[in-house]
Amino acid sequence: MMFFLILIIVIIIIIAFVHYNKHENDAPENEYTPTNKYVSVNKTIPAANVKRKSAAPFDGYMLSVALDSRTCLVCGLKDGRVFKTNTGALRHKCLNDYCRCVSVPVYKGMDFDDDDERAAMGGPVPANWTYEIWFNNQKNITKREILGSKYYNLFTTNNMTLSEITELVKNDIEFKESKAWINDINDGELSFSNLSLNDVLLNKINSDYEIKDCFYYYPTHSTGRHLRKIIRSREASNKPIEELYEILYVAGVISSLALPESQNIGTGCILEIIPGGSLFKLSIPYKEIGYEKIDFFTKGDWKVFNKLWGKPERHITLHEYYPEIYEFYENKFINEFMK
Ligand SMILES: [Zn+2]
Ligand SMILES: [Zn+2]
Repeated sequence: MMFFLILIIVIIIIIAFVHYNKHENDAPENEYTPTNKYVSVNKTIPAANVKRKSAAPFDGYMLSVALDSRTCLVCGLKDGRVFKTNTGALRHKCLNDYCRCVSVPVYKGMDFDDDDERAAMGGPVPANWTYEIWFNNQKNITKREILGSKYYNLFTTNNMTLSEITELVKNDIEFKESKAWINDINDGELSFSNLSLNDVLLNKINSDYEIKDCFYYYPTHSTGRHLRKIIRSREASNKPIEELYEILYVAGVISSLALPESQNIGTGCILEIIPGGSLFKLSIPYKEIGYEKIDFFTKGDWKVFNKLWGKPERHITLHEYYPEIYEFYENKFINEFMK
């Protein structure tokens, strides 16, 4: 008797299971997107948007990158590629210090709807866009930020594809270095010839890695904070610091070349596109430029400057001192990078 009871329960369970599966198979056809394309459940897409045929065979791992300017080209070009294993997807040499790639499982027969989107810097893009498509749709200023000025110039003048420029970049062990703002020296763009160039300071920065690190980007208030920290720690160990104050001074003066917001453009910092190395070679006379009109400097800085170099004759910004530089790059920005 007990045996039959158990048998009946088992039969009921089997019937319920078969019925459930049948029901899933009977789902209306329009819930699927009938295509054989391999598309993944990207973490940026709500899972519910992805229609999956039941019993869809698992098909591997797709590499997915962040669509932003910090993703390196090597990772970027692998975006959307499907690998057999998780480790296979993530095994590649990233050009950055660390790689932010993720791998996501892929099932055959999965696809996105036409209106599905993928998160990206500057706003969502269609879900089926890869990094390369995203890159090609970026403004020139973003392409330059990703490639650095040296490779951006090669890329545009030779009309290269993203894979062609990536091949060059991959073989350049100094690629990251070449993107550094301070390493960008292009005297040819704007004629600096009427100004007295000064390589000494630039060489000092380039030979001191701790200081050079502060100038990976154009000088901002945070550059000032970093420099002052280095100065304090070296002062504590009785190292000479006048040279470091000279660097702090020039950095602050350079920051005053840019208006907080360009009046003609509305947004965007012109300093970003000016070759940083060239600016450090400019003649920046303390007596004529002073410090009071430059908000980079603190009252503490003023005191040290006075002690080291005396009171300046006047106070202006670099923007006022070399108006032609800003004007040149503002026009360049409008003509080349607003596209
Ligand atoms: Zn990667
Ligand atoms: Zn990478």
